[in-house]
Order: sequence, then C-alpha cells, then structure tokens
Amino acid sequence: MDILVCVKQVPDTAEIKIDPVTNTLIRAGVPSIVNPFDKNALEAAVQLKEAHGGTVTVISMGPLQAKEALKECISVGADKAVLISDSLFGGSDTFATSYILATAIKKLGKFDLILCGKQAIDGDTAQVGPAIAEHLGMAQLTYAAKIQVDGNRIVINRETDEGYEVIEANLSVVCTVVKSINQPRFATIKSKMAANKAKIDVLTAADLSDIDPTKIGLKGSPTRVKKTFVPPKREPGMRIKEETGKDSALKLVEKLVEAKLI
Ligand code: FAD
Repeated sequence: MDILVCVKQVPDTAEIKIDPVTNTLIRAGVPSIVNPFDKNALEAAVQLKEAHGGTVTVISMGPLQAKEALKECISVGADKAVLISDSLFGGSDTFATSYILATAIKKLGKFDLILCGKQAIDGDTAQVGPAIAEHLGMAQLTYAAKIQVDGNRIVINRETDEGYEVIEANLSVVCTVVKSINQPRFATIKSKMAANKAKIDVLTAADLSDIDPTKIGLKGSPTRVKKTFVPPKREPGMRIKEETGKDSALKLVEKLVEAKLI
C-alpha cells in the first residue's frame, strides 16, 4: 500500500514567541524538531509498509530548513520526501495550509492512506488533517490509537475520553494518530548517514499549476489573529506539612481564618 505522511517541523520549545506586528510565530534562532505526533504517524506508516509492502512518502510545508526534518523521516523508514516551500505560502492559516498540502498530494499521485499527527505542538489546532480530507473529498478517521489494514478495509481504535470507538472504512482515507499508537523507532548511525545524502524534492507554487492563488498565503487565509498573549504562570500553592495530620488540619484552619475564608 502507498502511504503518505504529513510532517510538520516545529520549534523545540514550549515558549513560543509571537511577532507583535504580524501575530505569527518567530522561528529564527529556535531549534526545530519533527512534530512528535508526526513521528507516531510515520512509525505507523513504516509498520504498515513492513506488514503489507508498498511505499511511504513524507511531505512537509515549510521553509527550506524543513529538509532536515524530512531527512530525519528518511532515516527512520520513509522512502521519499517532498518539501512544499515558497514565499507565496508564508502567512498561511490552517485553511490555506491544508489547501496547499492537499494540492501537493494530488500532484504527487494516488495514496491508499494519508496519515497525520493528531495535532502540531506549536499551532495545536488539530485542523490540518481533517481539512486535507475535506479538500481531497476523502473520508477521515481521527485520533487513531491502533490501525489494522486488511485488503481494502481499514479498522482503527479511535481514542476518546471514555475509551475507544472501533471504526471501519474503505481505503483510501485520511487518518490522524495519537501518541499511544506506538513508540517511534530511532535512527541508526548508518541510516542517518544514508538519509543525509538523500535528495529532497522541493515543490513551489509554480510547480502546483492547479493551485488557486487566492487561497494561499496571508491574503488567502480567512483567519485573522486579533491578539496573542502568553497566559500568566499560576502561583504555586501553599503546602502545609506539620508533624501530624491533626496539626496540619489545625494549621489549615488557622490559615483559612486568617484569610477570612471561614
Ligand atoms: P495541526 O492542525 O494541529 O496539525 C495536525 C497535523 O497536520 C500535524 O500533526 C501534521 O501531520 C499535519 N501538518 C500541519 N502542518 C503541516 C505542515 N506545515 N506540513 C505538513 N504537515 C502539516 N505558520 C508559519 O509557519 N508561517 C506563517 O507565516 C504563518 N502564518 C500564519 C498566519 C495566520 C493568520 C494564521 C492563523 C496562522 C499562521 N501560521 C503560520 C500558522 C499555520 O497556519 C499553522 O501552523 C498551520 O496551518 C498548521 O496548523 P497547526 O499548527 O494548528 O497544525
């Protein structure tokens, strides 16, 4: 089966900095990693390839530095990697991003399965996978914690707050995966060296001749960010730990009386 995995390069930090003028992420000077959920999606793809044969293609939309992320994907089992990169794509919101990715996927050919992570750890919207399915007119299965394929059927365990839903569909589908689906493998020194030499194809806007220029970049993005801010850190709570439980309870009552709460 031919599988495509969407991989996003994300900043390796929990403290995202935002440009106050454009309200977009400042990436300069921040080390980057492969979005952790996308590593799970890639591992799922490589395991399916090992079980059923076929190919694994990875794509990423981003600046040229995202080639590094794609090489990392090759070092852990992807056969081919394509970067979608053009300054015309800058400022794209989730609608435009998913539209550009879907247009690129159509150009690359037919895939039995398109895998995404459940969300990116920087943007965090979890919209791009489902939106790619919409743009391509494909069925979508989300939050997969287990994927089984038998011929043309795919069965997933869909993770929910209460447990799992078992969902079946006919291929081809778009499927997003959660962390618990697997433990991504590590590259070996040999596979890293081979991946370093791999050729990463780059597709620009001009290569995607079908693309509608009014649907890409900041101008083609229906989202407008009005304000962004880092929420204030919560003050740590007070710990009461006296010699005995009774003393702790008395101390607690004392504090509550002091604060005029009782
Ligand atoms: P999610 O929807 O949470 O990602 C889910 C999954 O989709 C991922 O696990 C991955 O499998 C796949 N995926 C997501 N993004 C990509 C990708 N790029 N390539 C391949 N697969 C992917 N971001 C910029 O980097 N530069 C900008 O200039 C920029 N301008 C923006 C302007 C506006 C007005 C807005 C609203 C956002 C902008 N962003 C920009 C953020 C950008 O739109 C999102 O990062 C992007 O759409 C992905 O959304 P997300 O991070 O929420 O991903």
